[in-house]
Amino acid sequence: MTIQRELPVELSEGVCQKCGDKREVFNLSGFLYGERLLLTEDGQCYVYLNCLDDTAFDEINQILKSIIVDRKMSHDQETEYFYKIFGSTCDFVNKAKIDATRTKVSCLSCGSDEISVNEKFPPDVIRVTLPVITHSAWDSMDEQMKKRIIINEFKERCAISS
Ligand SMILES: [Zn+2]
Repeated sequence: MTIQRELPVELSEGVCQKCGDKREVFNLSGFLYGERLLLTEDGQCYVYLNCLDDTAFDEINQILKSIIVDRKMSHDQETEYFYKIFGSTCDFVNKAKIDATRTKVSCLSCGSDEISVNEKFPPDVIRVTLPVITHSAWDSMDEQMKKRIIINEFKERCAISS
């Protein structure tokens, strides 16, 4: 079951540089601490994340910390790694994986991510209904499985030389 949430967003118009098609580009409006808009891996869909309400956030953080405990890492780097692995714990949205590091939307017609955004000032604020990040598949796993997923994702996405 997909949970959805209605929220205000700043609306901009994005124009695909490849095919000329237009799509809506959102930014959170008047957002609170801990709120983010994430994207699916293919850049097609926005998904809402509230870090403070998220059921798996602390758990993922703890597993990550246990993996990197011996490495000297800045807080920023830790955060970067966190978001690189975060998507692997989220349920798919529209059959796509979540990529919490992706910032650019893609064209809904041709898939290109060369989208130029015309920002308005002041921006138009509209209310949209977006899927909320959930972790039901993740929640059904045992500790070991969770740890294995995080370790695999860490190896794959957080290129570390040491
Ligand atoms: Zn296009």
